[in-house]
Amino acid sequence: MKIVSVELFATQLPLIRPFIVAYDEFRELPSIIVKLTTDTGLVGYGEGMPDPHVTGETFHSTYEMLAKDIAPLVIGKNPFHIENIHRLMAEAVCYAPSAKAAIDIACYDLMGKAAGQPVYNLLGGKAHDFLTMPFVVSILPPEEMARQAAQAVQDGYTCIKIKVGDDPAVDVKRISAVREAIGANIQLRVDANQGWRNVATTMRVLKQVEDCQLDWIEQPVLADDIIGLAEVRQKTFIPVMIDEGLHGDKEMREVIVRQAADLINIKLMKCGGLYPALKLVAQAEMAGMGCQVGSMVESCVATAAGAGRRGG
Ligand code: MG
Repeated sequence: MKIVSVELFATQLPLIRPFIVAYDEFRELPSIIVKLTTDTGLVGYGEGMPDPHVTGETFHSTYEMLAKDIAPLVIGKNPFHIENIHRLMAEAVCYAPSAKAAIDIACYDLMGKAAGQPVYNLLGGKAHDFLTMPFVVSILPPEEMARQAAQAVQDGYTCIKIKVGDDPAVDVKRISAVREAIGANIQLRVDANQGWRNVATTMRVLKQVEDCQLDWIEQPVLADDIIGLAEVRQKTFIPVMIDEGLHGDKEMREVIVRQAADLINIKLMKCGGLYPALKLVAQAEMAGMGCQVGSMVESCVATAAGAGRRGG
């Protein structure tokens, strides 16, 4: 089986409501869909969802890089030879993880279709009967975040994730207000998206929300400050998750050596797809760290791929 054509579709999907985090506000979803066709007539779909603040790629750069530099590499290749395809992509361009993820996901789609199996059966088999997904609340005034979180619980969610990080003093109020609104039995996770920047600010906030029963605090300090993250972890009993600071193996090695996190947030768009994600999972398991599979706010194509990883 050989890949004989690659087609790219640049799409801008509108969001029902804006997604607001510490570093940006998203009103639409700029996504690159990849369609691979094989000589056996199979069609595989992938998606690249770049985030300039996190992956260093833009919508336009990702499209151009895929069209001119990466997509031509997979013509004539067998999608099952995924290690080789990643090696070729790495030799052509370093980083560019969401462009590579788009190709990787489309290759796995082809593998599943060729094997007549759901992709999770190629990744270790079905490991969960159901997946837990939090309701994510954007950065808004504390009372509005509390209202949305309470509504989500009424709608049946058992886990809430809130975005904070634009103002430490208001963030304390946000976290307290949401916990009060959802009661003690609902899981609550907090993502600062680097907004508290340093250890001192992070600890000032965390000290004030110690009684809010947080599942974990995600990426409180700047992405490249893995030493700072390790210091936060030593100073708080709240579990610490790394997100923007962890892309691939290079950062994972440092996170493990410095024992900088309890948990890692794997995103296919940060690490380059399902194949690199499997390697991160194996390393996390060896280091005794927990994982979650997050997303960049993606369409159904990449979201399904992330769920496939969760299933595996
Ligand atoms: Mg995050």
